[in-house]
Amino acid sequence: MNVAIIGGGLGGLVLAWRLQQAGIAYTLFEADAQPGGNFRSLAHPAGYLLEAGPNSVQLTPELETLLAEMGLTDDLIEPAGVSGRRYVLRGGRYRELPGSPPALLKGSFFSLATKWRLLRELWQPAAAPNPAETVAAFFERRFGREILYYAVNPFTSGIYAGDPAQLLLHRTFPSLAALEQAHGSVLRGLIKSKTGGGRRRIVGLKNGLQSLPLALAARLTGYRPNTAVVGLTRAEDGGYEVVTRVFNPRVAAETADDAAGRGLKTRATDEEREHSTHATHLALALPAHAAAGLLANLFPEAAAALAAVQYPPMSVVFSAYDRAAVAHPLDGFGALHPKVEAPYAAGSIWSSSLYPDRVPAGQVLFTTFVGGVQYAEAAGQPEAAQLAAVDEELRRLYGITAAPRWQGRYHWPRSIPQFDAHIGPAQAAVDALAPAGVVAVANWRAGVGVPDVLRWVDAVVELIV
Ligand SMILES: Cc1cc2nc3c(=O)[nH]c(=O)nc-3n(C[C@H](O)[C@H](O)[C@H](O)COP(=O)(O)OP(=O)(O)OC[C@H]3O[C@@H](n4cnc5c(N)ncnc54)[C@H](O)[C@@H]3O)c2cc1C
Repeated sequence: MNVAIIGGGLGGLVLAWRLQQAGIAYTLFEADAQPGGNFRSLAHPAGYLLEAGPNSVQLTPELETLLAEMGLTDDLIEPAGVSGRRYVLRGGRYRELPGSPPALLKGSFFSLATKWRLLRELWQPAAAPNPAETVAAFFERRFGREILYYAVNPFTSGIYAGDPAQLLLHRTFPSLAALEQAHGSVLRGLIKSKTGGGRRRIVGLKNGLQSLPLALAARLTGYRPNTAVVGLTRAEDGGYEVVTRVFNPRVAAETADDAAGRGLKTRATDEEREHSTHATHLALALPAHAAAGLLANLFPEAAAALAAVQYPPMSVVFSAYDRAAVAHPLDGFGALHPKVEAPYAAGSIWSSSLYPDRVPAGQVLFTTFVGGVQYAEAAGQPEAAQLAAVDEELRRLYGITAAPRWQGRYHWPRSIPQFDAHIGPAQAAVDALAPAGVVAVANWRAGVGVPDVLRWVDAVVELIV
């Protein structure tokens, strides 16, 4: 067995590591000069440590094991104590969103009618399972419109870059669908399931989350950076010929002009060369749209299903201000924006409140998300327009009285795969390729969150080994 892993994001790197541990031959091809895909930690010379991809992740047992294997346990950091608080824009100002159903019943964030609706949910019977039900339809049916607009909408745009009216409940939050079926009431199910285990810790890494993919790549004997897979053909023995193009690493890693958080680009040079490598199995660890291009000749139906998976654009805008110029206490994780409030951005993480030593003394840093399905138009604007619009919105909402000390942005033309009506056919089409020796370990198959990807890779390894 010889596995060709295409893509060095988290899924590809962890699969390679597990195969290496099991003594199975593999080669991991990564087009970029650096490993990690969506993991992008950028150290700015002016003293900012920026996260353009994941900012903090849930510490699941799988992640804890992996960090220990990578010697990164001592680098684990927990966001400052305020991080439990989340704010939501309501009536043009930020209000703390109650963190639990009891707090929600006590506080004044939601109307009396919605509180009554929540209590009634405890006795509302389960509806028949409906795999086509959207997240919006589910929450409106069980909890009413206010919860949908002011809690579910901002969280689905903040975490999934999505629109609850398009995301499918069974694909995005399968555990909620299961709770309704098992307990009748979702709330009753949540209360019962919470009594067992405690809340998972949310963590970061001292030098940025990209330390994890960097540590993995450094340990992989079969890791090939700067190597894009550009073609796949079937070999006579039933395996595959993997055609790759190798970029000259000296010029492929080209940092952005002003290091303003734009990250790295790869570019072809006249020194590029093509190679062919034989593999018995293929592991797709690259985005669905990229996989679609590679599979088009071999498996046209699967390729068409993969090409339909939606990836909205997203710009991550970083803005630093003098602390003294910001009226808001920034005593939380950040603030999210419901679409009904007609905001410019989906919301911001208060990065300097979570990790105070990631900014120069006396400054605060906002990481603002411009884009996703509901804000795709703003994500398509030029950088200068985005920086100005984010600055204007931040000044208005946080009572900021001075110009930013620094701003920068990182643009994801295709950010997070949407678990809407297109995802099921894409997953099924790729699962049907298992007898042909093709598996998928990327987030469009595993689930969007880092914990989903780690669990999925372990399950795939169980099947292979
Ligand atoms: C802005 C943003 C914020 C996020 N925040 C969080 C968060 O807070 N918490 C969380 O749990 N998750 C978060 N995620 C999701 C999480 O980062 C991903 O789900 C996770 O990193 C898994 O990615 P992946 O394994 O699918 O690979 P990807 O990261 O998609 O990497 C795929 C790799 O394939 C490579 N590739 C593409 N084409 C080719 C080719 N032809 N040949 C070779 N290589 C190729 C690419 O260069 C890339 O490195 C976020 C994602 C984004 C974009």
